[in-house]
Amino acid sequence: MTYDFARDGVFIAGRWRPSGSGDTLPIEDPSSGETLGELAAASAADVDEAVAAARAASEGDWGAMPAFERGRILSRIGQAVLAEMDALAALEATDVGKPLSQARNDVVALARYLEFYGGAADKLHGETIPFQAGYTVYTLREPHGVTGHIIPWNYPMQIIGRSVVAALATGNAAVLKPAEQASLTALSFARIAAEAGLPAGALNVVPGTGAVAGAILAAHPGVDHISFTGSTAVGQAIQAAAARNAVPVTLELGGKSPQLVFDDADLDKALPFLVNAGIQNAGQTCSAGSRILVQRGVYDQVVERMAARYGDLRAGPAMADLEVGPLISAKQRVMVESYLELGRRELTVAGEGKIAAEAPAGGHYVAPTLFADVRGDHALAQEEIFGPAQVVIPFDDDAQAVAIANGTPYGLVAGIWTADGGRQMRLAKRLRAGQVFINNYGAAGGVELPFGGVGRSGHGREKGFEALYAFTTLKTVAAHHG
Ligand code: NAP
Ligand code: MG
Repeated sequence: MTYDFARDGVFIAGRWRPSGSGDTLPIEDPSSGETLGELAAASAADVDEAVAAARAASEGDWGAMPAFERGRILSRIGQAVLAEMDALAALEATDVGKPLSQARNDVVALARYLEFYGGAADKLHGETIPFQAGYTVYTLREPHGVTGHIIPWNYPMQIIGRSVVAALATGNAAVLKPAEQASLTALSFARIAAEAGLPAGALNVVPGTGAVAGAILAAHPGVDHISFTGSTAVGQAIQAAAARNAVPVTLELGGKSPQLVFDDADLDKALPFLVNAGIQNAGQTCSAGSRILVQRGVYDQVVERMAARYGDLRAGPAMADLEVGPLISAKQRVMVESYLELGRRELTVAGEGKIAAEAPAGGHYVAPTLFADVRGDHALAQEEIFGPAQVVIPFDDDAQAVAIANGTPYGLVAGIWTADGGRQMRLAKRLRAGQVFINNYGAAGGVELPFGGVGRSGHGREKGFEALYAFTTLKTVAAHHG
């Protein structure tokens, strides 16, 4: 590992320094439960200073830089990220407990965001609008100014890519508050970006607690836009805080996403996706395909085949790169275990994986568990478990499938597995979700594809070109020249 934890501090105006309050947080390895070091916890004054540094950058060199030069810097950071692939992947795997090959995918995704938004920076433009005689009217897409980014621990690099990088591409200067339990790649990213030429103040990182750094950033009158990814409850608090300053928010919240499997589905193709979408990152994925709805004609076969796959799953340390890693924390493990116990009491356990023999006793492991014959209104079919567990729910026809699929407060992602083209189109319209996948799930993460939720899954879109619209504001200029 090349990163020196002892060097961690807050990163403000291009400089590293300890937190103003001297507060620190422990860095835990979820695979072993061991403490690896300490992290600075930003104070209120640090957040103030970070916002001021971002303001200076947005009104200074960074804000004035031609779009193509901003894009060039982002593309260069993308190359630098790829050059540090091994170190970044190992750091993320250690910090998050994510199996190493999944952490490598996250590094690739971060680099792809930098390439995509680097290339897009000079391709976003306004319009001219036909109007009355004697006028010329056009629109300008302008950055908000200072953007605040509060992110969770499950996919730090991917979320930095889709949120911070898109904000930078459009000329905003950013303040990033990473999650307490996974700040190391965010701090590494700041170092890499600075080394690759990102001007001081364009990106400031204030690690620390949600209660201090997060809450102060969200309510800060110097912030012009807030992008939040995390739980629905905290998202609601963020929106309320932003409302006091009347600034826009993007909320990427939780989910309980369904995958619908019809009798005519290509099961050989579907099966790996059905399970992987539930166990990726130990199920700690907002868009986890955690509800499997199966039509009666193939129900027994799907349950049997998924159960067989579950029987082969092993949870073990991130660096062993098994199918499943540990959960992020002891607290998360207690929460997931309570769902699994409820399920064992009230539902049918169809398949169960193992905690690998080599998994250290202090790690936060749970055995991947598949529940079958579940009703759509059961707690395990309604609430986000955020662990390696899925429920299988039978259905008879399209109407019932849609009713069950849409029958939670969430609406993030949905998958449809069927050979019937008409049904694909009908259901894609009727499912309540921000993304619908037909005969695939997740489209390999596609950085180009707009992403976000409806209902309790949030609002606003990141990824793709949509993020560039979200991170800009539109100005209309009407010139009267006679
Ligand atoms: P969380 O508790 O909501 O935390 C997310 C971030 O908000 C963390 O940085 C956290 O800081 C901070 N925070 C906590 N309380 C705050 C407050 N009062 N004011 C401002 N910031 C505050 O979420 P999590 O448990 O880390 O992540 C899991 C959730 O995120 C799940 O519900 C998951 O579905 C969702 N998620 C959604 C997406 C998506 O794109 N839709 C992607 C990933 C995850 P601390 O580190 O101190 O807690
Ligand atoms: Mg950690």
